[in-house]
Amino acid sequence: MAADRPAPARPRRAGTAALGVGVGAATVEVAWLVAGGPAAALASDLGATVVAGCATLACAETAGRHPPALRRFWLLLAATMGLAAAGRTIWTVGRLGADALPHTPLVGAVFVAGIVTGTAALLSAVSAPRSGLGRARVVLDGVIVGLALIPVAWVVVYRDMAGADLDGTARSLGMFYPMLDLIQLAVLISVAAPARPLWPPLTLLGVSLALRAGADAVYVSLIAQGQYQAGHPIDVCWPLSYLLVACASRYPPPADLDQVDETAEPAPMPWWRVALPYLTVGAAIVAIVVDGQPVPVVQGSAVALLAALAVRQALAANENRRLAARLRQLAYTDQLTGLPNRLLFTRRLRQAIVARRGHGDHPGEPYPDAMVGPDRPAVAVLLLDLDGFKQVNDRFGHASGDAVLAEVATRMQAVVAGAGLTARLGGDEFAVLLDPSAAAEPDRRGDPAADPERLAQRLLAALADGSGTSASIGIAEYGPQHTGDADLLRDADIAMYAAKAAGKSAYRFCTPALREAAVTRADLIADLRRAVDDGDQFELAYQPIVEVGSGVVRAAEALVRWRHPRHGLLSPARFLPLAEETGLVLPLDRWVLAAACRDAASWQDLAPGMSVAVNLAPAHLLRADLVGTVDEALAAAGLAPAGLTLELTETALIDSADEVLAGLRRLRELRVRISIDDFGTGYSSLSYLHRLPATDLKIDRSFVDRLDTRDATAYATVEMVTRLADAFGLVVVAEGVETETQHRAVAEIGCPRGQGYRYGRPQPVGHLRQLLAVPPG
Ligand code: C2E
Ligand code: CA
Ligand code: CA
Repeated sequence: MAADRPAPARPRRAGTAALGVGVGAATVEVAWLVAGGPAAALASDLGATVVAGCATLACAETAGRHPPALRRFWLLLAATMGLAAAGRTIWTVGRLGADALPHTPLVGAVFVAGIVTGTAALLSAVSAPRSGLGRARVVLDGVIVGLALIPVAWVVVYRDMAGADLDGTARSLGMFYPMLDLIQLAVLISVAAPARPLWPPLTLLGVSLALRAGADAVYVSLIAQGQYQAGHPIDVCWPLSYLLVACASRYPPPADLDQVDETAEPAPMPWWRVALPYLTVGAAIVAIVVDGQPVPVVQGSAVALLAALAVRQALAANENRRLAARLRQLAYTDQLTGLPNRLLFTRRLRQAIVARRGHGDHPGEPYPDAMVGPDRPAVAVLLLDLDGFKQVNDRFGHASGDAVLAEVATRMQAVVAGAGLTARLGGDEFAVLLDPSAAAEPDRRGDPAADPERLAQRLLAALADGSGTSASIGIAEYGPQHTGDADLLRDADIAMYAAKAAGKSAYRFCTPALREAAVTRADLIADLRRAVDDGDQFELAYQPIVEVGSGVVRAAEALVRWRHPRHGLLSPARFLPLAEETGLVLPLDRWVLAAACRDAASWQDLAPGMSVAVNLAPAHLLRADLVGTVDEALAAAGLAPAGLTLELTETALIDSADEVLAGLRRLRELRVRISIDDFGTGYSSLSYLHRLPATDLKIDRSFVDRLDTRDATAYATVEMVTRLADAFGLVVVAEGVETETQHRAVAEIGCPRGQGYRYGRPQPVGHLRQLLAVPPG
């Protein structure tokens, strides 16, 4: 902000004053030379010297005022202008002392030094390449342009004057001035090209260089023709070119200067920038061909050009090689952890398998006997998946998730070390490839890391050690049943799921039984998908919920069954886990809800006010459309909301976020009943009950079970829960009452409702209607 950083007024004024003086001096000189005033040569020399001096001051002042990133640029430009002023002074002194133009080595050296600092200044521009190699390439491109223009200039401008009386020094040095100007111009174009938008000072410097190149060319040709005299009108071009540099120093620094990212990849070059040096080389070739008999200058420049092109080619080849290596690294590396990624992992796995087959194995065929057994460790894949990683991400954010992944990667690498290839396959999934043929020593049986089982144990131990995460590992070993890498990975995946099912922090090998189970599992999921689509393979069984004292049926719980075309009638335990995993439980529950509401409406004539209880999977609680779904089912069936109870498991409710509670409250506003299912299994404290807008509470079967043996704790628990729930205004249901003993205990405690085989099994709706028609005796 300009307001935060007051501009130092005085130095700025000094720079502007210098520019003013420069403009004045240049104006006087132009007028003098054009009007043909006396002592034109001296006027020209003085004018050029004064303007160059002013430009020096202006640039130096800017160097002190602009941000540090631009300091070198302006200092080098100041040096360039200073050298121009010095050169011109030495020239003037020399000219005044002698008759001829003083093309002395000293003058030449000073001018060449100015060209070096000028080029260096351009290479210090903000948009210039940062690396030494990049800068070398830019300069080389400029040199190629300059060298290529020598034959062209020779043919176009100088050839016809070959006979003219060329001053020796002018010929050797003067002829190179336009070329050196053009090299700088090419460097400038190269440096400015990636900058968008173009910074005005660079444009002014370009115009200045072009002006100088033109003036130098005319100067050299005038000399060649013997027509040049000091004070010639062409002389005004030099001070004007210095003046442009002084003007350039008046611009503010580029607006996006602080956005310059030192580490950013260089912007891609426009095509014409890449082609520019080669276009001039093409012109040089044409010139040499046209010329026919090249003079030594042209010959020399052609040889130098070839050398420059060769170096340029070598640079480009080297750059390509590095780019290719960088690309390869990017393609095969996981950016977050730096581990090899899935692409490299599967490639190595494929190589390992091919190497294995090279030992006499054939795809799909059994190993020769010599190949099996502990003598030859197999190619093995360990698939590691973090337990509960999704929760880490959801609760603590992606940054924490990333940190966990990085930590896991580090620990895995420390354990595996050189024994195998550790990779991140994506998400929270990692893998280790154990390839005995790739191991440094042929026999690594002594190395604990090379044995898949011991490696899995060590990996689990390393992760368990205070990292706050655990993982499940599936192991698959390459065998005759595998046709390729995809097979082997799938088996590791199957084993990994088995490990997950076994609980956290476990590992499993893939066995034939597991593989088979996985196949039927996949089939069953496909069948389930179809069944949910059609909806006609599901049935509902209704289990009565009775008043413990009187045995009157007060409600019925709808329990879903799947009549599978091949496997017969399946209980929820068989397919609900799959349905929950795949999300199919949502449409399934919607079907149950609609059917149960219809059935409940149909029994209102027999038992007015008797409600139906429907189980809802936890996933529903996070859905915004839950209230709408329920409302719709009630309306379609013509059932009063009080006739529906939604059962939600305690575990689903424990973690209830605010939006879940809000959804539950809206359901309550509909006057639908809400029941806390399986109470006692979720390790929740009773105190959270008052937060839930529930109407019923079902004591889990496991507690009722133990009432049989007169288990004192179980009895006390059921009693306490009943009292407390009662105090909260909840209707308590004892689940799984099977025996007379359990029934008596429940009645003794005073639990109002009961459900279980003692009162009635889950049964088709027709049977339930018959039961309702006969009043309990
Ligand atoms: P739940 O909600 O605890 O349902 C009660 C389960 O206990 C039912 O098993 C029922 O048949 C069984 N049961 C009832 N009385 C007794 C008894 O005296 N002794 C014994 N040993 N068991 C008894 P079911 O039908 O196999 O259902 C199992 C679970 O599947 C249910 O547990 C419920 O969580 C879930 N479920 C059932 N239907 C649905 C549904 O439509 N949607 C959803 N999301 N889940 C459902
Ligand atoms: Ca239930
Ligand atoms: Ca239950």
